[in-house]
Amino acid sequence: MNVMANDLKTLIPDTQRFLDQEKKHFIGGKWIAGSSGDSFSVIDPSNAEVLTQIPAGTAEDIDNAIQAANTALNDPMWRDMPPANRERMMHRFADLIEGHAEELGQLEALDVGMPSFVGQHVEVGNVLDTLRYMAGWPTKLNGKTMNIGEPMPDKRYFAYTQREPVGVVGAIVPWNVPLMIAMWKIAPALATGCTIVIKPSEVTPLATLRLAELALDAGVPPGVVNVINGFGAEAGQALVEHPLVSKISFTGSAVTGKEINRTATDTLKNVTLELGGKSPVILLDDANMEKAVQGISLGIFGNTGQVCVAGSRLYIQAGIFDDAVERLAKEARSLKVGPGLHPETNIGPLVSEAHRDKVMGFINAGLKAGGEAVTGGSAIDGPGFYVEPTVLANPPQSSDVVQEEIFGPVITAIPFDDLDEAAALANDTTYGLSSYIWSRDIQNVHQLVPKIRAGQVYVNSSPFPHPAMPMGGYKQSGIGRDLGEEVINHYTEHKSVVIGIN
Ligand code: NDP
Repeated sequence: MNVMANDLKTLIPDTQRFLDQEKKHFIGGKWIAGSSGDSFSVIDPSNAEVLTQIPAGTAEDIDNAIQAANTALNDPMWRDMPPANRERMMHRFADLIEGHAEELGQLEALDVGMPSFVGQHVEVGNVLDTLRYMAGWPTKLNGKTMNIGEPMPDKRYFAYTQREPVGVVGAIVPWNVPLMIAMWKIAPALATGCTIVIKPSEVTPLATLRLAELALDAGVPPGVVNVINGFGAEAGQALVEHPLVSKISFTGSAVTGKEINRTATDTLKNVTLELGGKSPVILLDDANMEKAVQGISLGIFGNTGQVCVAGSRLYIQAGIFDDAVERLAKEARSLKVGPGLHPETNIGPLVSEAHRDKVMGFINAGLKAGGEAVTGGSAIDGPGFYVEPTVLANPPQSSDVVQEEIFGPVITAIPFDDLDEAAALANDTTYGLSSYIWSRDIQNVHQLVPKIRAGQVYVNSSPFPHPAMPMGGYKQSGIGRDLGEEVINHYTEHKSVVIGIN
């Protein structure tokens, strides 16, 4: 398989301007140089070239950002902003992002490797939907009056609850869809009156930095949204340890999530963890095969499989196994692999050389364990970090390729006989993030849905995160939820007020 490398789209002037601009941290509404003077390179994964240099944040930089966020939290301009004004401000922010969608899509293509049209339309589309959905919440953050009766003789009370922002939020964001996940954390913070310090992955910081600048342009007060670049072990750790941070919202691997949870315990922070997955896809013999194969392909090969909800374990009813595997392999072979800036690219590179090597390690181990590469199975030569879309038939259920999150364009296929076996195989994992059922039989669907231990079940659909739907995992896929009304609960405290009135 070859990579398409010619005829790249040219960068629009806005993208070029931002790339050329010296990169700093974004603290208190200003670009601030790093305290140490150390920096790291951001690499274009389509050709391994250096895009720009970024300052490596230190504990001192993190402290500066948190102090700015804490000052903004208590500034009457933000604290007392009328809810309707906050709503209008969020809509202005969304409109501004929409006007810069092409620039943001190009930055994501350069940084992450995703096709620029996916960055511009799918990722920025979700960013806009999330911000506009969350803009409806500031005017609806109500408490309740409670009838607590007369708990003491002859003593009457008026009792109510009110909702208040949880405080300064520390957000730690991964590299796979950085802009979208950053907005999943920024939008509820804006809606609830919190302030936020974001640490993007050092691999993909560009679009998040630009987002912070756009927030200021939209009228979000200085210090409400801050971005510190840097490495997890230093900047991330300092954010989780800091006593002025009330909440940590983390998306990333289960290993790091557990470490963050342990650290956050010292200061008893409110923690939300959206961790990895190894999401099962159950394909029943009554499914619409054409739609199922397209949906399954999108669900594993979209964003080169670097998606926490990727449907990476396919369980196929035995009678249609060979036919379904061959159809999926054919679909995989039809996908065009190339740089994110090529207009025909379906599948971009993996995000880094180290990640490409990790994905190849899983594929090779899966082949050694007895899996058959019906299509794919190899890295693609070239300066970029490409791996062929891969379908592995019949690896053992207990093998690493079936059990571990690979985060690459790799799907395993295993047959099953009946619904109980399908549910048992689907649940045979430490994760519980998402799951998929392809069937036209409503009884089969309703029997399976309650049996599956996962935060999301999509029926006859590939994954799409809707801002109204809570997003998170069972088991070791996380704690708490992003999106929906649930995230608003995680970003607010409920205060009980009891007033004696006689
Ligand atoms: P990590 O979980 O290590 O990183 C996610 C974020 O956490 C990054 O911003 C990272 O910074 C930061 N971080 C790392 N260590 C700490 C720490 N001790 N304290 C605070 N923050 C920290 O993911 P990786 O980038 O290493 O990817 C590894 C694997 O994780 C992938 O191959 C994939 O399987 C899975 N993954 C899952 C994601 C999901 O959405 N569920 C998203 C991304 C990865 P830094 O980048 O500097 O390390």
